[in-house]
Amino acid sequence: MAKYVYFFGGGKAEGRADMNNLLGGKGANLAEMTNIGLPVPAGFTISTEMCTYFYDHQRQYPPELKPEVEAAMRKVEEAMGTRFGDPKNPMLVACRSGGRDSMPGMMDTVLNIGLNDTTVQALAKNSGNERFALDSYRRLLLMYGEVVMGLKGHPEKPFDHILEHAKEKQGVKIDNELNVASLKTIIEQSKAAIKKYTGKDFPSDPYEQMWNAIGAVFGSWMNDRACVYRRQYGIPDEWGTACNIVAMVFGNLGDDCATGVALTRDGSLGAPGMNGDYLINAQGEDVVNGSRPTKRIEETLGKDLPAAFKELVEVGKKLEKHYHNMQDIEFTISRNKLYMLQTRNAKRTGFAAVRVATDMVEEGLITKEDAISSRFIPAGDLTQLLQPIFDLESKKKATKSGKLLTKGIPAGPGAATGKIVCSPQKAEQIKQANPNAALILVREETTPEDLRGMKAALGILTAVGGVSSHAALVSRQMGKVCIVGAGELDIDHHTGTMKVQGKTFKEGDDIAIDGFTGEVFEGHIDTRASEVVQVLLKKELAPEKSEWYQRFQKIMSWADEYRTLKVRANADLPDQAAEAIAFGAEGIGLCRTEHMFFDHVAEMREMIMASDTVSREKALAKMLPFQRSDFAGLFRAMAGKPVTIRLLDPPLHEFLPQNRAGQEEMAKILGKKVEEVARRVEELHESNPMLGHRGCRLGIVYPEITAMQARAIFEAAVLVQKEGVKVLPEVMVPLVGFKKEYLHQEKIIRAQAAKVFAETGTKVEYLVGTMIEVPRACVTADAIASAAEFFSFGTNDLTQTTLGVSRDDYGPFISAYTDPKKADVLAADPFATIDQDGVGELMKIGVEKGRQARTSLKIGICGEHGGDPDSVKFCHKIGLNYVSCSPFRVPIARLAAAQAALKK
Ligand code: ADP
Ligand code: MG
Ligand code: MG
Repeated sequence: MAKYVYFFGGGKAEGRADMNNLLGGKGANLAEMTNIGLPVPAGFTISTEMCTYFYDHQRQYPPELKPEVEAAMRKVEEAMGTRFGDPKNPMLVACRSGGRDSMPGMMDTVLNIGLNDTTVQALAKNSGNERFALDSYRRLLLMYGEVVMGLKGHPEKPFDHILEHAKEKQGVKIDNELNVASLKTIIEQSKAAIKKYTGKDFPSDPYEQMWNAIGAVFGSWMNDRACVYRRQYGIPDEWGTACNIVAMVFGNLGDDCATGVALTRDGSLGAPGMNGDYLINAQGEDVVNGSRPTKRIEETLGKDLPAAFKELVEVGKKLEKHYHNMQDIEFTISRNKLYMLQTRNAKRTGFAAVRVATDMVEEGLITKEDAISSRFIPAGDLTQLLQPIFDLESKKKATKSGKLLTKGIPAGPGAATGKIVCSPQKAEQIKQANPNAALILVREETTPEDLRGMKAALGILTAVGGVSSHAALVSRQMGKVCIVGAGELDIDHHTGTMKVQGKTFKEGDDIAIDGFTGEVFEGHIDTRASEVVQVLLKKELAPEKSEWYQRFQKIMSWADEYRTLKVRANADLPDQAAEAIAFGAEGIGLCRTEHMFFDHVAEMREMIMASDTVSREKALAKMLPFQRSDFAGLFRAMAGKPVTIRLLDPPLHEFLPQNRAGQEEMAKILGKKVEEVARRVEELHESNPMLGHRGCRLGIVYPEITAMQARAIFEAAVLVQKEGVKVLPEVMVPLVGFKKEYLHQEKIIRAQAAKVFAETGTKVEYLVGTMIEVPRACVTADAIASAAEFFSFGTNDLTQTTLGVSRDDYGPFISAYTDPKKADVLAADPFATIDQDGVGELMKIGVEKGRQARTSLKIGICGEHGGDPDSVKFCHKIGLNYVSCSPFRVPIARLAAAQAALKK
């Protein structure tokens, strides 16, 4: 018979950490902590399989669940010495969601289950604290009403009004100042509100409460924001959540009690030491929902509750040693006794990830392999270390001139300067209309509903909440610049204003936030390169002066030890090539020659206007020296590393002015009639340029273009080799679909090589190969490879031609395609991450057939996908020799390649 329920308590648990998939992260780790002797209240976990069952059976449970739950409940009661629902000595429970991966704040939890008019009196009596018992009861009514009875997000916010009204009437500001009389009123009004808005009574039967809460927890797996979150982080819908029933321990019993959320190291910059938020005399949700300002664990918990703090620090160390990772924990202190309520591997920024990984290797807690695993550093997060920071001078000037408005808690490192927006919906709209909009989302606090708006913003600034607030947590994960708890800000999202220091700012005004220091400035502040970039590219910072650079470099060198996939860069010009090398590129995977033509557009236009081969050759001859010197520059910069040069690819009309004024100017320069120019523009017009006269089709119709380019390449190669620098050109023919296309071009290229070598008396080693970017090339790869010496997958075009989707025109429908609540066709944008089932299958065929014909065939990829971690891992898997991406993504590709190699 299937087992659905797993007990933990009294130092022993049926579950373990490695049963994460079955028990969810929360359940598995509550079990693990119980097993290693940490103080965890007893409880049990209903497995994720039940969630699956629940959705497969119209939200019903199998008959065997009830007896299993009841048996587990008996054991919990035994461990705790109280009874669930007992009128004299009642035990209360929490009903908590928890999937395999943490999804902060996305799903539901209900605390204090088991209270009713009878048990609340017993609880008051047994604890000697009536206020506490009533406070717990009013919390149950609120959470149960919202989560289980569906009043969460109700436009009339009944519970908010009841609470506010009671506080006003009693003349207090903070929830835990409410007295017995006020609490009693709140309880009666809450019950009435539930009846009024749902038509049903709040159920007084503890078991009815519990079962309904279990249903709500499983139900929360499919709520809208959970679905959106899963899609963003690639969590499959099928996983399901587990449901944990845990005996309640109370942080709201008095001033010797507290509840908190802690990280064993700093989640923003990674410094060692337990830190986080807590509140004295409070219950769980209070800390994260911003109901009162939290205190900092590292600052005052040692003074407030010294014994419990000491134990907490010890527990943190034990957990790091046990899990070999930085932990994010939730705890409650009840009458000076510490209880652990949750632990999980902590989310961290890219900065913290790099620091924690390198520190932990040094501390002997993890190996190098662990440090570079995606568990420790998701490859994409390295970007954060390369992003701009504020220019120190510009910031100093702002400070001097009184532009510093206030300071909050730094929660997401980086610099963001942009326009204030107070509503997440508005942020989303503005971003949709203008993808380049730089927005700072300014909020009292953020909630899970704000996720999309947060994604649209460059930076996030909140007035309340600490390092474990929702805003901080999400920013850490998204890599957003973030400041939380800037308490001096008075934010009104209704009017869209932010007041501070007697000044009022409106939406659309510029502000600048420094996520390293927590400083908020009015106006704009200039940014400058990150430390890593200053060391590597600008060479204006000495390596030994930058700790971040040193840590970054350590990670990179470890990655290089393990990866087998080579990493090249896409670069067209010598300075880009130098950047690429600085970031560790091992060659150029794609030099787009058209960029060079744009620099000499007059000559190019003369060539295009030429009416016969002779005058075309004359125009081309003028371009030859430019091309040659550009290529020579690249060869020098790459000093013997391979350089793949693609022959002219875009259709010729891209080089001509499309409007009248431009055509007039061009006519003047070339000494032609404007009508002539206009006619040529007309002639070259294409209704579908993506599939038009481009790629090798140009070189086939105008062989003299290919000949000129090949000559420029080989003359440059000979020149640089004569200077004593090794050269390794790889000439690449674009958009080949037929072997004969390739052969046509290859013949011209090799003929030019032979000519140049004969003329100069020097030979240069070189390769000729092709891009694989139309499906026909993949399925005839064996034929093509019988002639071509290398392949490079052009996955941008391969995606366009495989999906029949134009990258320039997919805007209007792609969001519907990737939205789980809409068509849900694709998990990710196929132009960012390789569509493995479609495009990827074609690539596999290309690799297999290509190598059948030529075992030594060198194969790479040079589309945008070459810098996307998932795509890099795929390229490793199908056996490519290298990936090529833009210079700034080279470090990401290096790390992703190592992660792919380490994955067994
Ligand atoms: P989330 O996944 O949103 O963090 P949790 O299930 O972890 O939800 O519950 C949120 C908070 O509720 C916890 O951080 C803790 O403070 C409180 N809580 C949960 N279970 C208990 C319990 N058994 N006793 C006391 N407080 C609890
Ligand atoms: Mg939690
Ligand atoms: Mg292409």
